[in-house]
Amino acid sequence: MGPALTGVLLSEELAYWDRGVAVAFPGPGLGEPPLLAMGTPEQKERFLAPFRAPDRPRWGSFAMTEPGAGSDVAGIRTSARRDGDSWLLSGDKSFAANASRADWIVVWATVDPALGRAGHRAFLVERGTPGLGDFKIERKMGLKAYESTSFTLRECRVPADNLLGGEQHYARQAGFKGAMQSFNATRPMIGAMAVGIGRAALDASLAFAREAERLGDSRVRDRLERIQRKLRAARLLCWRAAWLADARRPNVLEASMAKAAAPAAALEAAVLGMELIGEVGGRGDHLIEKLFRDVKAMDIVEGTGQIQRVLMARQLVGLPRD
Ligand SMILES: Cc1cc2nc3c(=O)[nH]c(=O)nc-3n(C[C@H](O)[C@H](O)[C@H](O)COP(=O)(O)OP(=O)(O)OC[C@H]3O[C@@H](n4cnc5c(N)ncnc54)[C@H](O)[C@@H]3O)c2cc1C
Repeated sequence: MGPALTGVLLSEELAYWDRGVAVAFPGPGLGEPPLLAMGTPEQKERFLAPFRAPDRPRWGSFAMTEPGAGSDVAGIRTSARRDGDSWLLSGDKSFAANASRADWIVVWATVDPALGRAGHRAFLVERGTPGLGDFKIERKMGLKAYESTSFTLRECRVPADNLLGGEQHYARQAGFKGAMQSFNATRPMIGAMAVGIGRAALDASLAFAREAERLGDSRVRDRLERIQRKLRAARLLCWRAAWLADARRPNVLEASMAKAAAPAAALEAAVLGMELIGEVGGRGDHLIEKLFRDVKAMDIVEGTGQIQRVLMARQLVGLPRD
């Protein structure tokens, strides 16, 4: 089994038990896919080797989102200016998982906003680099077991060797393509996590309905069955997208399909659960209520459901991605 398929299987199972805890576990996290997709052999070794036999808990992080740039990643404003043997980065980032505790953060910046996506560069910004700071843990409605962090870069000096992929990568204007490539790896994983949360909600709903003697109601059974079917279909989309990635075949469409379908099915599972448990859900002390707060983020991260549908519709009618 290839690494992408292994990744989605693990993602689903970990998220079934707790997606927030799964992301809190040490590891390179969302920083790993761009490093694998774009990094030079030297960078992969330097930044990933310490994770193979860690001497202490280590995290990596991925920072694309900014207060003014989420879905429209072309709109990032963090600036990158070459200065001798290094780069100076300045800007604000938000919602980056585990950023304050990370050994390094993959930070996306632009050398010139007028160039749009052609101006994008990614940098490995190491912990303790002067100018990297103001870490603030965001308040979240769910997934509270891990930190989503905003931070600032103020004339943050990063060695030229930490430009992800090196200069030659960007000579081919491949910066933004690298980001998209890494999304093709991560979107099926997020989809699989949604399936895991949805399965947990379905199991909890079934248990509640059984205990409350609601399973005699065919409307309840019908809704539970529909959700099981949608979750299984979504899982197959995730597996297919990952299988294509392992086979090094294009999976842009399949990755978007997985990311669009799975969170919607999982959200439906959590909504049904909330409706079944009624006022117990409103009190905020039932597992289903927690899953209900956790699951929405699966629709938001790595490109919202709407964005996936925009991309798939453009592809269907033969338009370029943007
Ligand atoms: C729990 C959590 C964890 C996260 N982790 C990370 C992380 O580790 N690293 C990181 O970089 N980011 C992270 N993010 C940020 C996440 O990637 C962004 O929130 C996401 O890209 C959406 O951006 P936005 O919130 O700015 O919404 P916006 O882009 O402002 O979108 C708002 C709404 O408008 C819709 N919309 C926008 N453009 C269009 C369009 N063209 N057509 C149709 N609808 C559109 C969107 O679908 C959405 O519903 C995280 C977010 C959350 C909630």
